Amino acid sequence: MTNVLSLIEDDAAVIERLHSLNLKTYWDVLLHIPIRYEDCTTISSISESLPETKVVVQGIIQQVHQIKYKTKQLQVVINDGTSNLVLIFFHFYPNYVTQYKIGKTIRVYGEIKLDFHGNKSIIHPKALSESKPLPQTLTPIYSSVTGLTQKKIMSLVDQALNYLLQVDLIPDTYVPDLPRLSEAITLLHKMQAKFNSSTIINKAIARLKLEELLAQQFILYNKYLEKVSRTSTILKPKATLTRKLLDGLPYKLTKSQTQVLAEIYADIAKPTQMIRLLQGDVGSGKTIVATLAMLVAVENNFQACIIAPTEILAEQHYLKTKNLLINLNLNVVWLAGSLNSKERSAAYSSIASGAANIIIGTHAVFQKNVEFNNLALVVIDEQHRFGVEQRLQLQLKGINPHQLMMSATPIPRTLAMSYFSNLDISTINELPIGRVPIKTLLVNNNRRHEVINFIDSHCTSGGQAYWVCPLIEESEKLNLENVQNVYEEMCLKLPRIKVALIHGKIKAAEKSKIMDDFRDQQIKLLIATTVIEVGVDVPNASVMIIEHSERMGLSQLHQLRGRVGRGNIQSQCVLLYQSPVSEIAQKRLKVIYENSDGFAIADNDLLLRGPGEILGYKQSGLPNLKFANLEQDLDLLKKAKELVKIIATEQSSIPQLHINLWHHNQDKYLSV
Ligand code: ADP
Ligand code: MG
Repeated sequence: MTNVLSLIEDDAAVIERLHSLNLKTYWDVLLHIPIRYEDCTTISSISESLPETKVVVQGIIQQVHQIKYKTKQLQVVINDGTSNLVLIFFHFYPNYVTQYKIGKTIRVYGEIKLDFHGNKSIIHPKALSESKPLPQTLTPIYSSVTGLTQKKIMSLVDQALNYLLQVDLIPDTYVPDLPRLSEAITLLHKMQAKFNSSTIINKAIARLKLEELLAQQFILYNKYLEKVSRTSTILKPKATLTRKLLDGLPYKLTKSQTQVLAEIYADIAKPTQMIRLLQGDVGSGKTIVATLAMLVAVENNFQACIIAPTEILAEQHYLKTKNLLINLNLNVVWLAGSLNSKERSAAYSSIASGAANIIIGTHAVFQKNVEFNNLALVVIDEQHRFGVEQRLQLQLKGINPHQLMMSATPIPRTLAMSYFSNLDISTINELPIGRVPIKTLLVNNNRRHEVINFIDSHCTSGGQAYWVCPLIEESEKLNLENVQNVYEEMCLKLPRIKVALIHGKIKAAEKSKIMDDFRDQQIKLLIATTVIEVGVDVPNASVMIIEHSERMGLSQLHQLRGRVGRGNIQSQCVLLYQSPVSEIAQKRLKVIYENSDGFAIADNDLLLRGPGEILGYKQSGLPNLKFANLEQDLDLLKKAKELVKIIATEQSSIPQLHINLWHHNQDKYLSV
């Protein structure tokens, strides 16, 4: 049986073209809203038609000329009894001359122009059939691709409109102030001339947006219900290990750290699963908060783990945590892809037996042969760097450990309200005291030698620095060549300084040796690709040079800059750029130059890039918003959020039907 979600049937070539427009079902066609309209419902008189307006006129051909200026053109003069009008064709086929015969009546559509002599003309008019009755509705113009005519799309729309009654799922009482969905869709495809006003169109569009946001919010509400129904381990702080760690710290927690820790403690003491995002700017001290949370699990005789997106970062966590917990007599286990098979099976067995208290690693921790004894808390560092897949995998492992995700890329408020509304958020909104703000400098690459001289004096007087080259996504080969060249350049120009090179292709063991030597100040200058973007914490390194900063995204620049400014010495970040700099890159550089606060940068990022790219849902196949715009449609978003709770309680079958309709071809949704 066909319904609105049936696949469109047509010949293969048409289907292929439709797919390139993302049109697969009749439902998709219904939502393929015209980009504009042409009014061909009435014939205007030539004498009364105003210049710059688009009209249909009908008249008898008086003259036909082929004129040769620079190129050939065809001029056809018609008269409708009120006045003359010249139709001008710059491109025409020989058959036009036979088609436009003197004495014939023709009907055309186009924009009236006036020439210097006050003569009215239309350039390249659209020919309409003069024998057919005029259309009752405005002629919709759809976005299309070559080979797919407007006529074809219109006929598909007409077919799709047969299923229209199936789309009204939300009872009218819930949305009294907007047209129903079926009415809105009809109105937009079959626009009556008298309705062609922006208020009426806007109301129809608002209905589409609201429906779309409802679908999104229903999904999130389901996630929320799922979450509150998942039980997890009750972890109550015993203040044994945590106390001991706090007493041994060389610093006091900031107010903000104490606050978020309290939120986390309250959450994991409940029998339901915690899914919490801990956001805090780079350097705000998220790690210690996570460590304290893990210790609560261990105090209760459960296991905890922390995973990081790169091996460098995971290893740094491992070394630091081991060091931090040295007096606590705990078994901290390292698990990463680079372990040899003997080390790996030793790690596996201590994880399985429960001998391992805290497990630290990369996504290797997700592998199916990793069996935990009693995992109660998972910390995911730099969570935005993990794919949605990997986050889902954790859910699918069959256990419901509490989850604490950490990110230095704050989620802008509107996104938090929409995509992430099933997520609890804790925010560290201050940096530890005593931090000296990082100085940011924008330097044209033609002053590179000055930067190199600066590095020379900085590194010969005890300082350390990073020199980062951007990832050239198109080509891994170019990428390596690029950092390799910079490395060679620095070795040559800075003979007094120990320089090292680190990038993704270097073996893990070698990488960790380089990072160790850098931490121990053996290496003074580290040339790197963006592998060091996240989380690396070497307080003595106080200078960051970013090559081709004009090519990098805002959050990446912010992350990179956050690698310095970790100690209490003045740090510098030099953004090298190469002219010409595109307009958007100039805007980015201005934002990063003027702002040090990650939240302000994230908001600007949202404005410059739009939410799609920030969430990365385009790549992960997650539902995109086609109509609504989170920035502009905040009121509709609020309304959708309110309605979702009411509808789900009063008419519990509607949410799933609605989701099925709006996201019929999606099987996974953004779930963090
Ligand atoms: P991030 O939030 O970027 O992950 P880290 O957790 O790596 O930051 O912390 C950055 C540095 O700040 C670390 O060297 C850490 O030891 C230190 N730190 C954390 N909390 C405090 C605090 N309350 N006072 C002083 N230093 C702190
Ligand atoms: Mg960190």
